[in-house]
Amino acid sequence: MSTDTITCPTHGESQFAFVCQHLLANPVQPWYCGYPEEDAQWRDAWCAECDLALEREGEWNENNEDEAGIQLICCHCYEHHIGQSVNRLQGPALEAWTKFVDGHCATLSEKQSAMTAQLRLDDYPRWDYYQERAQLVFSGGELPELVADIEFIGTLSTASNTWMWSWANFSLLEGVRSRIAAVRDAGEERDYPHLTVPIWEADMHDGWHMTAIAVEQLQAMGAYRVPSDNGYIFMAILSAQHRPAG
Ligand SMILES: [Zn+2]
Ligand SMILES: [Zn+2]
Repeated sequence: MSTDTITCPTHGESQFAFVCQHLLANPVQPWYCGYPEEDAQWRDAWCAECDLALEREGEWNENNEDEAGIQLICCHCYEHHIGQSVNRLQGPALEAWTKFVDGHCATLSEKQSAMTAQLRLDDYPRWDYYQERAQLVFSGGELPELVADIEFIGTLSTASNTWMWSWANFSLLEGVRSRIAAVRDAGEERDYPHLTVPIWEADMHDGWHMTAIAVEQLQAMGAYRVPSDNGYIFMAILSAQHRPAG
């Protein structure tokens, strides 16, 4: 990981990325950038117009650099800016997205009822999750333990009021975030920025909305939400078995 830092007036010493002046002036537009990687979490980004200029020239040079006005931005400011781009949908695109979310929420609610009844989740007072095995284990009830295979969908921070997709969360072990990029791919196909932007301002409703979409995309049985240090982790339950008794 790069250890170069800048000193942000707001956030102090921070890592940074390069962003075109147009995204800084108006972040509520498509961001042309790669997805976060473990050793490059905040990817250099530019707007659609700058992307055309880059394609035209095949590189950044004297013919497109001035107009791009690429600037350094601290990683926290970057997250705040790119997060605002989820609000870029308007008109019919926004209507389609809202419909998409509502449809998935209805499906999730049906799935949750069916799963709770089928697995008798209400029988278990206790749960523990194990990232290394990508399992969630329910115990302490009358029934034998229930072992669920899980994928982490994302985390809702109630400290910063943000949603973070687990494909962008490198503090999680790989085993619990190996499938979730499929949801991002689906978002890219449909141009739904909530599914492709790593972290954005969100509340509990948003957490469940993203979870509903992920459950469908991953063809999971349902979802489970557990508290974490500063909010909640949303997990997809991919399959589950009761451990044989005795
Ligand atoms: Zn630009
Ligand atoms: Zn900053």
